[in-house]
Amino acid sequence: MAEPILEVSGLVKYYPLMRGILFKKQVGAVKAVDGVDFTLAKGETLGIVGESGCGKSTVAKLLCSLERPTAGSIRFKGEDITRLSGRALRAVRRNIQMVFQDPYTSLNPRMTVGDIIGEPYEIHPEAAPKGDRRRRVRELLDVVGLNPEYINRYPHQFSGGQRQRIGIARGLALRPEVIVADEPVSALDVSVQAQVINLLDRLQSEFDLSYVFIAHDLSIVRHISDRVGVMYLGRIVEIGRDAEIYDHPTHPYTQALLSAVPVPDPEAREHRERIILTGDVPSPTNIPSGCRFRTRCWKAQERCTREVPALAVPEEFRRTTGPAAHDSACHFAAEKQVVPPEAPGGHGNGPG
Ligand code: ADP
Ligand code: MG
Repeated sequence: MAEPILEVSGLVKYYPLMRGILFKKQVGAVKAVDGVDFTLAKGETLGIVGESGCGKSTVAKLLCSLERPTAGSIRFKGEDITRLSGRALRAVRRNIQMVFQDPYTSLNPRMTVGDIIGEPYEIHPEAAPKGDRRRRVRELLDVVGLNPEYINRYPHQFSGGQRQRIGIARGLALRPEVIVADEPVSALDVSVQAQVINLLDRLQSEFDLSYVFIAHDLSIVRHISDRVGVMYLGRIVEIGRDAEIYDHPTHPYTQALLSAVPVPDPEAREHRERIILTGDVPSPTNIPSGCRFRTRCWKAQERCTREVPALAVPEEFRRTTGPAAHDSACHFAAEKQVVPPEAPGGHGNGPG
């Protein structure tokens, strides 16, 4: 594996939960990110998948230094960037850029496309001499497949897919090494999603980029990711090579998510059990003890209420070894059984 460009360890972000109007008092914490570990190799794409509210955008903001973590470290090329300030913080922000989810709300409607794409140069004037910025913006438009003549148009004059291309051009303006794309195609029509994903794929090799690609749907990240991490309630519960995750998921949550992904082949569809999770995702202000997934898990046993499962699979049960090894935060990850036992009233969860 190539050297890691990002190493995330024990990453935590809690937001204070306040009550009261006159006398505000902290009554708890929203545990948006609650112990996330992963590495991103240079040139690699790591997909991060999970339901709405599981902490994906918070991870994205932490990686891009738009928020400071409550605990944990983020190493960029070996250097912890979570305690930086001033010039050093600005330098690292240049290198790790975000592409936002919704191109309809993330682009200022009163700015021209040229000003939007060139705005990073206002924030980082050292990145490009003033006289060269228009030329660079035109080049960026061309790079993302838009006509450079559109430089004076406004966002409303573009389609959703074109607006996301503008957002991507903006993300590239400072020539970053890492791009964190937070659900970059979720707001787009299915018909244009693939075009934007293909563009990101092409830009990756053209500009030597490493990607963290966030989505709420496993089927979207499959095409672009080398590895995939599945998040649940502030934590990564399973992570590995994409084929490992898709073909041999070992965490019950991943198994349930995958069972909901449409299968084009009718024969395969026949043979697949749909796993329907019961109950709601617990509140991030009140995370279950032990395994945080146990309240919805059909495999849960008493041990799961006490012991937090580590994101690791015992060596003897690994399907692969070395850097490609596939980790799963489940006490029963080594068990073969994938489908929950048939229970009256359908596939329910185990003890709550
Ligand atoms: P996702 O992107 O996976 O939908 P987020 O990272 O946006 O999830 O949010 C994770 C959790 O943290 C949610 O419960 C959300 O309400 C909460 N949260 C996010 N940002 C803040 C904030 N600034 N203050 C308080 N709670 C927040
Ligand atoms: Mg989000």
